[in-house]
Amino acid sequence: MEERKFPCDKCTICCRHLEMYEPAKYLDRGDGVCKYLNEQTHLCSIYESRPDFCDVRMYFEKEYKNKMSWDEFIEFMKVGCRELQENEKYKK
Ligand code: SF4
Ligand code: SF4
Repeated sequence: MEERKFPCDKCTICCRHLEMYEPAKYLDRGDGVCKYLNEQTHLCSIYESRPDFCDVRMYFEKEYKNKMSWDEFIEFMKVGCRELQENEKYKK
C-alpha cells in the first residue's frame, strides 16, 4: 500500500511564524518570517536543502517515530495547521 502523503496546502503560515518554534528562530529575518521564503512565489528558496524540521517526513522520523504512526502524525499535524490558519484568519 502506498504511504499517505502529508496534505500541505502550501499556505506558508508555518514559514511566517518562526517565533513559535525555538529551533527555527535562527531563520527569522526579524519579523517572524523565514529569510528563505520567497514572498512572490510563496515557495521555499532552499527547498532541496531546507532544515530537517521543515521537512515533515524528516521531522516525523527524528521526533515522533517512536511516539506514533505516520498516519497518526499526519492527523496531529493537520490539527496544528488548522489552528495556525484559524489564528491567521482572525488577525485579518
Ligand atoms: S501551516 Fe501546514 S498547511 Fe500551511 S504550509 Fe505549513 S505545513 Fe503546509
Ligand atoms: S527554510 Fe523553507 S520551509 Fe523552512 S521555514 Fe524557511 S521557507 Fe519555510
